Amino acid sequence: MTDLQPARGTHDLIGEDQRRHHHVVETARQIAARYGFDEWITPIFEDTRVFSRTLGETSDVVTKEMYTFDDRGGDSITLRPEATAGICRALVSNGLTQSLPKKVFCTGPMFRYERPQKGRYRQFHQIDIELIGPSEPLADAEVIACGWEILKALGVHTDTLLELNTLGDAPSRAAYREALVAYFTANKDALSNDSLVRLERNPMRILDSKEARERDLIAGAPKIWPYLSPEAAAFYGKVQEHLARFGVPFRENAGIVRGLDYYGHTAFEFVTSKLGSQGTVMAGGRYDGLVSEMGGPATPAVGLAAGVERLAMLLDVAPPAPAPVAVVPIGDEAEAAAIGILQSLRAAGIRAEMAYRGNLRRRMERANKIDARAAVILGTDDLAQGVAQVKDLRTGTQEAVKLPDIAAYLT
Ligand code: ATP
Ligand code: MG
Repeated sequence: MTDLQPARGTHDLIGEDQRRHHHVVETARQIAARYGFDEWITPIFEDTRVFSRTLGETSDVVTKEMYTFDDRGGDSITLRPEATAGICRALVSNGLTQSLPKKVFCTGPMFRYERPQKGRYRQFHQIDIELIGPSEPLADAEVIACGWEILKALGVHTDTLLELNTLGDAPSRAAYREALVAYFTANKDALSNDSLVRLERNPMRILDSKEARERDLIAGAPKIWPYLSPEAAAFYGKVQEHLARFGVPFRENAGIVRGLDYYGHTAFEFVTSKLGSQGTVMAGGRYDGLVSEMGGPATPAVGLAAGVERLAMLLDVAPPAPAPVAVVPIGDEAEAAAIGILQSLRAAGIRAEMAYRGNLRRRMERANKIDARAAVILGTDDLAQGVAQVKDLRTGTQEAVKLPDIAAYLT
């Protein structure tokens, strides 16, 4: 076989790409830990019903995007398109529904059969935060504050804006649904085929349409706010008050409805203008119905997910490659002694490398190539006196250092 390429919509993360990716994930992991979230690692594939039953039969993800196949035993398996459903499945399967709240951080690859473009892939990665148990609006605000803190720590918050909405409670949505159906039915001719289906099954989802020709129609649609029950309006007000206390700026946007069926009350997106039409870097909301659909007791929950690739693209500068120290023996005898020195540097926490062959010139060329910050040069005469020449490759200065002192000298 010749000319093998990565499968469409997948990519390799090497060098700078990997460092950007790693920086986003590590930063999120540390901030989430500070907020009290524990990391869970759940499977990359699940029983298809984990997603098909819960994400909503009219969601884009379920209707068009899932990687679903029968395994060799004939079981229907789906590569996870998102993390929340698997985490709720894990909560129920592990009997954790009685030990709430659970604060979960999760990260890893997700899979959606989408048309690949900038910021949209078939295998991509998310960081994910779920706060399961509390029904209080304080929980919604804390999850959003944690997301905002991650954007701040990455230095991308100045490019992003939090857009906030509420999807209300069941009575609010029922009232709003009627208003939406009336509006879109009166404008049926302007709807795409997808939206006509949504009109029948889940009219609110039309607001999430990405069709350019429906944009004006959607902009003129009724907003949910006048249809909120007093309880739902009070909840929404509390979320906003708490956000102010956490110091998270936001803008209200009635168009934020979220693509999945299990949301109610809070819905939000952190949006940037820097990534073209793939501008949502982080999104989430409250999903009080999901755990019960997974077979557990009624359990309130709120969470968010962020696209690692989109955040990595927003980073101004890539984290630098780590600069190693090169150990450079001259001759076979010196190489034997150099292994001990190499290992003592590594034991001291220093990234140290030694080439596998070559004379002094070749080895110094190699040291430059790997962008070493220093070279520890070991000649037979120096070794006999218990020293090495340590050369600072940034300044060019060189000094004889006693062998036992090299690690300390370089730290
Ligand atoms: P979009 O409207 O862009 O399709 P979505 O509503 O499907 O997004 P979510 O399910 O909320 O996205 O996923 C959370 C985040 O994951 C998104 O805001 C985005 O940053 C990222 N994301 C979603 N799908 C992809 C993808 N195919 N490729 C890269 N990142 C993605
Ligand atoms: Mg999508």
